[in-house]
Amino acid sequence: MKKILSVFLALAMLLCALPAMAETSYTGTGKGFNGDIQVTVTLNDDGSIKSVVVDSYNDTPGICDAALEKVPAAMVELNSINVDTVGGATFTSNGILAAVKDALESNGVDTTALMEKKEVVVEKAADESLECDVVVIGAGGAGLAAAITAEQNGAKVIVVEKMPKVGGNTILAGGAVNAVEDRSEFAIKQNDSVYWHYTQTLSGGDYQGDPELVMTLVENAYDGIQWTKSLGMEWLGEDAVFTVSGGLWPRAWKPAGKASAGFFETYTRYIDGTDKIDLMLNTKAEEILVNADGEACGIVCTGETGNTVTINAKSVIVATGGFAKNVEMRMTYDSIWGILDEKVLSTNHPGATGDGVKMLQKLNADFIQMGNIQLLPLGDPVTGSLSGNIEHGVDSRIFVNKSGLRYGDEGGRRDDMTNDLFAQEDAYMWIVMDSDTYPTGDELNNFGETANELVAAGRAVKADTLEELAALMGVDAENLKATIAEYNEYCIGGAKYGQADQFGRTLFGEPINDGPFYAGARVPTVHHTMGGVRIDTLCRVYNENGEIIPGLYAAGEVTGGIHGSNRLGGNALADTIVFGRIAGESAALEK
Ligand code: ADP
Repeated sequence: MKKILSVFLALAMLLCALPAMAETSYTGTGKGFNGDIQVTVTLNDDGSIKSVVVDSYNDTPGICDAALEKVPAAMVELNSINVDTVGGATFTSNGILAAVKDALESNGVDTTALMEKKEVVVEKAADESLECDVVVIGAGGAGLAAAITAEQNGAKVIVVEKMPKVGGNTILAGGAVNAVEDRSEFAIKQNDSVYWHYTQTLSGGDYQGDPELVMTLVENAYDGIQWTKSLGMEWLGEDAVFTVSGGLWPRAWKPAGKASAGFFETYTRYIDGTDKIDLMLNTKAEEILVNADGEACGIVCTGETGNTVTINAKSVIVATGGFAKNVEMRMTYDSIWGILDEKVLSTNHPGATGDGVKMLQKLNADFIQMGNIQLLPLGDPVTGSLSGNIEHGVDSRIFVNKSGLRYGDEGGRRDDMTNDLFAQEDAYMWIVMDSDTYPTGDELNNFGETANELVAAGRAVKADTLEELAALMGVDAENLKATIAEYNEYCIGGAKYGQADQFGRTLFGEPINDGPFYAGARVPTVHHTMGGVRIDTLCRVYNENGEIIPGLYAAGEVTGGIHGSNRLGGNALADTIVFGRIAGESAALEK
């Protein structure tokens, strides 16, 4: 007994002699969208959270910014590691949550109390009423091009965006913009012209596109790029012009920065530099107001705190994007596929829910070709995302199925390529290419990711020989080698070069014959809703009686009748710039 007492005494003395425990930092790792996120979590000596710092991440700036800012801040404010994710940046949010949990638990910290779910309690602000010349609904590509152009034409502008960040679907795109400088030396060298772009856009959409709108798109696309340059956006030169998947011709220009993020760096820099554009995030338009004369005259929104924000304006621009993330709407309207339930993934951001369609329906706006929904054969098998795609352009890659065999024209229309993919086992394919695209693997894909990063993240495979590649893909090696050998004969320098192959493919670059070889898996995904509200070439909106609704304009994916039954790759971003600018100018100058 005495012995036990003296041990206790010694222990107690030892504990008293220790200094008060200071704050402690822990590091941990979680999986973001494009790879690992590393954090340092510092706890106060009472175990509460002092700070959460994201040390490194690989997710795309612009897309993940809101999560990087809000999730760590909420953890500190609420003293919880179980806080809400940020809409539109869910993967990054979850990566941060996982990294913080890992930091604490892998160091033996009991997280029971910190795991208590807590939500930021926001006090509802007073309802407010604002005035401007032009109100824009949606801060995606079309909305921000419209807002800036309206401002450049003298208008005071308010942009409302329901998500916590700008960008919409536009920021998720690879950045390719089809545009031709008519009769330029380069266009002549490419055997291209504005008229050829026009013809391919019309025929690629089965002549369902409105010829006037299509002509407006192709005639103004090159000027649209120059306009973004005037705002400071940087582009790669002629050498980088390529054929984007489903683009049918090498006329896609590439931004110099990461994928589409450059548009939004440019647009938001401009907006920050003017006091004539107010951008209101977390503000959801619910209704378009119409006055006694039938003119659109403002909108009613739900503000960040749940309050009502009424914005009175001389003109309203609807740039709310599409509805590919609204399963009910896409099942109702789809006239092409017949299968667009939730099992078919989508490349889209979560805000693509067709709000604009619903608001415009209440005004009896006219809608055109709502059943035309574009699928792409290029989605990530887990998330449906466009990013993670290892391909650069059409000429340098092939598609093979689970048997390791080519099965269709990889240079064809997007709808044809998707139909071909649905006919394969599990509607699952691999994109295969060689070191012509990635000499070392440290080069970037179209989404600002390196091939080696994708390999490390398990989103692509890489091998020195085709046998090893086939093993990593889980396909038959002999089939893969034979299908590639046959394909190579049609490539530049190959035996049959210049002919169409058995699938009708005519776009061939260098053969796939130099390791390292790369492959990445892809599945069909809902990508773009090509139908929408009917507009004229000034972006004015028609009602069901074929009359213009005064004061109302629309641009971007919410509109219909431009792309017909199948949109060319590279035409959507051109659409946002061209029609966004027209809508902005029309809305500003009308009043
Ligand atoms: P587009 O390519 O036509 O510009 P995007 O998808 O890039 O389309 O952008 C549309 C934007 O509109 C998205 O950021 C989306 O969150 C936003 N949006 C959609 N519905 C509403 C709404 N009801 N209120 C405010 N913003 C909205």
